[in-house]
Amino acid sequence: MRTAVQYYEDIGKLRNNVYVSGKKVGRHDPIFEKSLNVIRCTFNAVDDPDLRPLVVVKSEVDGREINRFNHTHRSVQDLLNKQEMTRKLCWKSGSCIQRCMGTDALNAVGVVSREIDEAKGTEYHKNFLVFLKHFQENDLIGNAAQTDVKGDRSKRPHEQEDLDLYLRVVEKRSDGIVVRGAKAHNTTGPYAEEIIVLPTRALTKEEGAWAVAFAIPADTEGIKLVCRVSSMRERKHLSAPGSEFGMSDSMTIFDDVFIPWERVFMCGEWEFGARMALLFANYHRHTYCGCKPAVTDIIMGLTALVADYNGIGKAPHVVDDISELMILAELVFAAGIAASVKGKESLSGIYEPAFIYSNAGRYIAGENIYHEYEILAKVAGGFPATIPFEDDWYSEETGDLLHKYIMRNPSVSAEDQHRLFRFISDYSCSAIAGVYQYAGVHGGGSPIMEKIGIRTNYDLELRKKIAKNLAGIKS
Ligand SMILES: Cc1cc2nc3c(=O)[nH]c(=O)nc-3n(C[C@H](O)[C@H](O)[C@H](O)COP(=O)(O)OP(=O)(O)OC[C@H]3O[C@@H](n4cnc5c(N)ncnc54)[C@H](O)[C@@H]3O)c2cc1C
Repeated sequence: MRTAVQYYEDIGKLRNNVYVSGKKVGRHDPIFEKSLNVIRCTFNAVDDPDLRPLVVVKSEVDGREINRFNHTHRSVQDLLNKQEMTRKLCWKSGSCIQRCMGTDALNAVGVVSREIDEAKGTEYHKNFLVFLKHFQENDLIGNAAQTDVKGDRSKRPHEQEDLDLYLRVVEKRSDGIVVRGAKAHNTTGPYAEEIIVLPTRALTKEEGAWAVAFAIPADTEGIKLVCRVSSMRERKHLSAPGSEFGMSDSMTIFDDVFIPWERVFMCGEWEFGARMALLFANYHRHTYCGCKPAVTDIIMGLTALVADYNGIGKAPHVVDDISELMILAELVFAAGIAASVKGKESLSGIYEPAFIYSNAGRYIAGENIYHEYEILAKVAGGFPATIPFEDDWYSEETGDLLHKYIMRNPSVSAEDQHRLFRFISDYSCSAIAGVYQYAGVHGGGSPIMEKIGIRTNYDLELRKKIAKNLAGIKS
């Protein structure tokens, strides 16, 4: 397995195709430093005695020890371990652990490439297994490029005025295919080494050109990564572990990119578009059942601490609000456990979580993210929004006064009270807080998509039959 240092050296060798704020920047540009710290957590976890049993797993390809982020799930226990690993790693990074994007895409293309081969006599799964070996041997970081830019939402891919608004195959050659289009919101974009592309939605028979899945090195000719970054605010005086993280993503543009056949996992099999899109969503919503409880844990911890510091830790409305956070965290986690335990082995040997439960968990999480921040805001009061700048706390003229007037709970030092309010401000009032909130709503699919997913996979007829039986209706 690579170290975080080796990973950093390796991404520095990639061809420069990363753009930020109108400039081409290298992958070692300091702007990415805090985001890279999140990825570093996943490498460092291998040597952490608490995390190692969850993070290190035997390769299904050759039995060597690998990082679980590069593994395909081979049992119910693997699904459970991925979920727990995700929750614990997010406690360290303060929010999204990001590397799961590649893991979830890897599992989805692994399952569906095998199913396409079974139905169509193709050899996509062989391609997948060669890619999986390469991915594991080099301990790579993958990016899931699913979400197309999509143009007019009311129109299908083949009905768009510009056919490139969903990524498509524009040429087929003897040695590979050429693709054009753009994928949006790709977390890890500027520092992923492989981009795993898969369809975003169900496709119709006119839409074979859009039924495409592949993996390609992130610096391949024709790929442009137009990136955005948000980081926890800089600290000058009060350094804190939670302030060292960030999140970056890319609009990933494929400007006629050549993909060799050996890297293609689907090409033209439109009937499998829905299966591939929904299976990635299933894996990712299952991952959310690990990361989202971690975010609730952090919001809950901050709420409980600030209540104690404010002297209202035992107030009935605060106890009630914190109980609600406990229920939300564990309900979402429980949905993930249920999805794991009821998970099934696919034809490829890769396990998939039970769809209804991963979607129900992700839905509850998405619908409650702003409510959870609201609870924190209610209990914290207005100070996280108006806290004076850090320098004022250390200036000769105002520093002592600010430390005097922040005092609430006499058993907690002024510095610790300042630390807590500053961190709550960073976690709930900053630019990155807004991104985390949007990620909570839309990451893995907007809540409406989970509702549609559940509805179309649910046995409603069974419930009608139960009701009819109880009501004595015979017809
Ligand atoms: C922080 C963050 C990180 C992400 N990371 C990744 C990533 O790494 N890889 C990746 O592939 N994706 C990623 N996503 C994308 C995420 O899956 C999408 O944001 C989500 O699926 C919604 O798609 P959209 O943003 O295009 O919004 P839209 O599709 O525009 O949806 C907005 C709303 O429009 C409505 N809507 C859309 N289409 C229709 C329709 N046909 N009929 C009626 N109503 C409709 C829905 O109600 C939806 O709530 C990320 C998103 C965020 C916010």
